[in-house]
Amino acid sequence: MSEFQKSIERILDVDFEKGPETASASELYQSISKAAVRHIRKTWEAQSGTEKKRACYFSSEFLIGRLIHNNLLSEGLLKETEKYLEKHNMDISLLEDIEDPALGNGGLGRLAACYLDSAATQNIPLDGYGIRYRYGLFKQYFEDGFQKETADDWQSCGDPWSVRKEDEKVKVSFADQEVYAVPYDMPVIGYGAVTINTLRLWQAEPLCSFDFDLFNANKFDQSVKERNDAERISAVLYPNDETDEGKKLRIRQQYFFTSASLQCMVSRFKKTHGSSFEEFPNAYAVQLNDTHPVVAIPELIRILVEQENLTFPEAFQIARSTFAYTNHTVMGEALEKWTVRLYKAVIPNVYTYIQLIQKELVKDLRKKGISKAELAPYNIVDKNTIHMARMAVYATSFTNGVARIHTEILKDDVLKEWYRIYPERFQNKTNGITQRRWLALANPELSYFITEKIGDAWITDLSEIKKLEKWKDDETVILEFDRIKKMKKRQLAEHVKKMEGIDMNPEFIYDVQIKRLHEYKRQLLNAFSILDTYFGLKDGRIKDFTPTVYLFGAKAAPGYKRAKGIIKFINEIGRMIAQDKEVADRMQVVFVSNYNVSYAEKITPAADISEQISTAGTEASGTGNMKFMLNGAVTLGTLDGANVEIVEQAGEENNYIFGARVEEINAIKDTYNPKEIYKNDKRVRAVVDMLINGKLDDGGTGIFKELYDSLLEGASWHKPDNYFILHDFRAYCDEKLKANREFGDITAFRKKCFLNTCNAGTFSSDRAVIEYAKEIWKL
Ligand SMILES: *Cc1c(COP(=O)(O)O)cnc(C)c1O
Repeated sequence: MSEFQKSIERILDVDFEKGPETASASELYQSISKAAVRHIRKTWEAQSGTEKKRACYFSSEFLIGRLIHNNLLSEGLLKETEKYLEKHNMDISLLEDIEDPALGNGGLGRLAACYLDSAATQNIPLDGYGIRYRYGLFKQYFEDGFQKETADDWQSCGDPWSVRKEDEKVKVSFADQEVYAVPYDMPVIGYGAVTINTLRLWQAEPLCSFDFDLFNANKFDQSVKERNDAERISAVLYPNDETDEGKKLRIRQQYFFTSASLQCMVSRFKKTHGSSFEEFPNAYAVQLNDTHPVVAIPELIRILVEQENLTFPEAFQIARSTFAYTNHTVMGEALEKWTVRLYKAVIPNVYTYIQLIQKELVKDLRKKGISKAELAPYNIVDKNTIHMARMAVYATSFTNGVARIHTEILKDDVLKEWYRIYPERFQNKTNGITQRRWLALANPELSYFITEKIGDAWITDLSEIKKLEKWKDDETVILEFDRIKKMKKRQLAEHVKKMEGIDMNPEFIYDVQIKRLHEYKRQLLNAFSILDTYFGLKDGRIKDFTPTVYLFGAKAAPGYKRAKGIIKFINEIGRMIAQDKEVADRMQVVFVSNYNVSYAEKITPAADISEQISTAGTEASGTGNMKFMLNGAVTLGTLDGANVEIVEQAGEENNYIFGARVEEINAIKDTYNPKEIYKNDKRVRAVVDMLINGKLDDGGTGIFKELYDSLLEGASWHKPDNYFILHDFRAYCDEKLKANREFGDITAFRKKCFLNTCNAGTFSSDRAVIEYAKEIWKL
């Protein structure tokens, strides 16, 4: 038995008094994970010093997904663990019952996780800093086609990958509260386990030590209240912010983890550099993942001024050199803002420094010749509002967008005033995904196929994958590629059967849209096209149709009524089709429940068609699109976000691109009249009317009528059909049917899929993180 296996059995014995035969899945999970942490502990401990400059990724989300398989792969222990479990008559898939840590919402959080994986693999010293939410993103299930939510208790099988660092806890103070931030460190293990970085997540705890005075009711109640108030700070991801209390809680969360992280960085810095704070930017670079952690800027200035006796200009200079900001939003109205009143109520002494930053801004703008009348779009504090993105651009050294088209929109539109005065600060860093999780782990069959042909260098250098292209005209290779896809489709069908109890025919085309449910992502457009195909098959307009499964996975924010209405609508369409004998052998709609990273790992390799259909100019980048491309699906999409670069790499002829481009949307925006389209196009009418003709049932909620009105009437706060669904409807249906037709020639279709895989090299998060390290963090 290897040392590692002995270590597993020792832990099983000591912690659970069991051997491998009698241990439960959860006990095996905990023991294997702990043994794997021990395995790398020495390497890990040796690497957390500050001698070399380190980069820090501040993010309110880390959507890391299940860790055990990935970490074992990185440590080179996956095969061994598989064999060990086999020896005891178990399959490693038993560890798939362990809950994902879903400490994030979607793309932004998953990006943070991919960057940590890539940095460790590329030997870049990058640590993550965030919040250890007690409950992550809710768990979703369906009841009568409606989304329901329950709490995500991700620690139910323990948290064996985290190490609590009691002696490194720090105090964080608010106007009305003081709490401990206790760090939990997770190792981020690079492939090959040469570099091991850290994801440090902070947990909020009360200062009092709970020697509850049981005989003094008042004191007891006071202690309980203090504990609850403290723990609430790290209790849930994105608390409901409809009330002032909820908004204040979000401000508390943002300040909590950024202040704790900076305190820890400053104290480590002092150990090696004393108080030569001008060296701080040479010891640390901090990347702000969107605006949630932007309060770190005034907080670092405050710490340097109040605790380290620097002057404001000195501290400001250091902060600017330390921080950089990644923007993730194309839509200007979605940029984060807070009311001054709430900030003053929670962190008044930090607000003081925001005011000083605002004063500095006005001085700088004067110097640049900006007149008083032109100040409005720049003001960080504007009457009663604090604009976080403006502070982020002004008080950092670089601002970046996350796909080429997105960065161009920032420069021309969302942040154009800033680009005018600070053009040198703007950069593009197109997002990426880690090929270790999204190919090596999620698709071992395709990985083997690739490695057999070009070797395994692609695992740490995805540009190698281009070498596959020389087989593009080799029919036997393309058919081998097709066989792998079919195998992944069969495996997914089995998984969906197990999870949802639904049978999915693997002979059908798998047409997939998985991503958060949002109007701009246009799941409703997909739903309409499914209805249009349904009608077309029934009335004979559509012939020679290859049977298709339309697969959806998406969570809607609990308070987002329309998004929930769209889920119900899709489920109702699915029910109607399943009950209609005339078409049920050719169409099936499946909405899987509780879409998360682990589900994505099962679905992505099995897709034939990747739906990326957001309104042009709304999706900053997307990363789901890259996972599909790498696994050999064609993109059915608009020229939005990273889709633009995807088709540039793989060829427009190997994908299915449709719909209005950004320029066209901008040109028609002010005069767009969806009612005209509705009036003149009877196919549009037929599908839109399904929202109100009573054939589909919204359970008496009125939500379908509300969706109908949002398309044709609008509301005071948005225009009718804000996302141009009716405008793109015909083009989308045509392109989708074209893909369906072309699937008929499977060799030609799979060649397109194959060419997508061959050209996905640039979408590795290794490439992205190397660019950040060179061009922003200057490591
Ligand atoms: C990749 C991923 C996303 C992002 O998907 P997009 O299609 O880019 O929006 C969201 N959620 C999960 C679980 C993911 O794995």
